[in-house]
Amino acid sequence: MTGLPATKLNEFRGKFEGELLLPDSAGYDEARQIWNAMIDKRPAAIARCTTTADVVQAVNFARDNNLVLAVRSGGHNIAGSALCDGGLVVDLSRMKGTQMSPTTRRITIEAGATLGDLDAATLPHGLAVPVGINSTTGVAGLTLGGGFGWLSRKYGLTIDSLESAEVVTAAGKVVRASATEHPELFWALRGGGGNFGVVTRFEFRLNPAGPDLLSGLVVYPAAEAMAVLRQYREFAKTAPDDLTVWVVMRKAPPLPFLPTEAHGQPVVVLALLYAGDPKRGEALIEPLKQFGTPVGAHVGVQPFAAWQQAFDPLLTPGARNYWKSHNFAALDDGLFEVLVTALDTLPSPQCEIFIAHLGGATSRLPADSTAYGQRAAEFTMNVHGRWEAATDDTRCIGWSRDLFAAAAPFATGGVYINFMTEEEQGRLREAYGSQYDRLVRVKTQYDPGNLFRTNQNIAPA
Ligand SMILES: Cc1cc2nc3c(=O)[nH]c(=O)nc-3n(C[C@H](O)[C@H](O)[C@H](O)COP(=O)(O)OP(=O)(O)OC[C@H]3O[C@@H](n4cnc5c(N)ncnc54)[C@H](O)[C@@H]3O)c2cc1C
Repeated sequence: MTGLPATKLNEFRGKFEGELLLPDSAGYDEARQIWNAMIDKRPAAIARCTTTADVVQAVNFARDNNLVLAVRSGGHNIAGSALCDGGLVVDLSRMKGTQMSPTTRRITIEAGATLGDLDAATLPHGLAVPVGINSTTGVAGLTLGGGFGWLSRKYGLTIDSLESAEVVTAAGKVVRASATEHPELFWALRGGGGNFGVVTRFEFRLNPAGPDLLSGLVVYPAAEAMAVLRQYREFAKTAPDDLTVWVVMRKAPPLPFLPTEAHGQPVVVLALLYAGDPKRGEALIEPLKQFGTPVGAHVGVQPFAAWQQAFDPLLTPGARNYWKSHNFAALDDGLFEVLVTALDTLPSPQCEIFIAHLGGATSRLPADSTAYGQRAAEFTMNVHGRWEAATDDTRCIGWSRDLFAAAAPFATGGVYINFMTEEEQGRLREAYGSQYDRLVRVKTQYDPGNLFRTNQNIAPA
């Protein structure tokens, strides 16, 4: 392994209770696959941990032998930072234990859990952590970058419900970070990504949600895009925190409520969730169906758990993906012109543009309350280039980059670290803004040797 004597490896294997996969192990190729099929990295070893003690052993082994280290939980990061070439992957995907208390409204969940695992434990109790919109995403990476989804306008970012975290530091120590224990580390973990240690457990406060809520889709033809976007902008200005409406622009998937002639045609989709009493929501969302002549609509009261998985079929692992993302304080007509052009030139049936409405509770905490640096963003756009064949790489990546460049004059300059691709390290200062220098201080204290650098890296001083 990267020239290490077999004795060192055997010594590690003797202490490690999980599964250690080397390039010649059965299951190695499956274990080095992550959500984005563009990523093809070959780690020297993958340490599938089962306990915090395993994580300690793996961190110590990597550090003491100068191995590059990557941390994998849900494996969804677009930049492929869950893996490294050569080096050791600390893989937490088998660590999914939960301890749930509906009475104290708390859950402790291990870092390998997906959003689906978290929702499965909490939603049946009518309780939720505000997380993202695709159930196979990892709790760990999403939380450490900030985390937002359908409940964030009401309850804030995922990190705003975080009470504490168990962390294995670069020194191999297990510490608990919270408002009162290692408070600077706790501050940095809430938005600072994987820079400060391996989180093995998260403790979240739970918020009331559902179990049944009003949600669904209203779909308009591309020909009405400009009118729909302008009305959406006005609608969003007065939407209460309970109501979240995102815009998705793409070719229509073959959804059963759409006429067959609309399938594959470019459309503007308004995707909505009302987090309060559905009766009040029904009146509030009525205007969304009158922005033009919808090609179809499917809105109703359904389990929130089902809505949390509604986008999964469009976001399955194994496709080639390339993202570019901007934040906006407001939506400009000039931006709409860019979006309409991009909608007319979608290069694949799966490429899409997501505009998430944030604001609400995400913007109300003081900007420096956590490391997350983008609380002023009212909207986040993700240009999601997605396609199947490597021969389409240039075309689809080009479309994403062109749209990103054309939209730049209307953006804040900030970016969500969890939407950044591998080559975007240069945007990190913009992502953190005035938080950056404090993050460097925490990094220098907890990881002076930059062991945790396979990420959106904050270098120590
Ligand atoms: C289909 C899809 C939908 C998404 N939707 C949303 C959304 O709605 N809202 C949203 O906010 N984000 C969303 N994201 C972005 C998501 O938050 C990031 O991709 C995130 O990094 C995924 O976390 P993961 O654990 O799955 O990733 P991994 O690839 O496993 O990890 C990503 C990085 O996080 C760090 N990390 C992971 N686990 C740990 C750990 N235990 N300890 C320390 N560091 C760790 C490491 O640096 C690692 O490289 C989505 C992503 C995808 C692919």
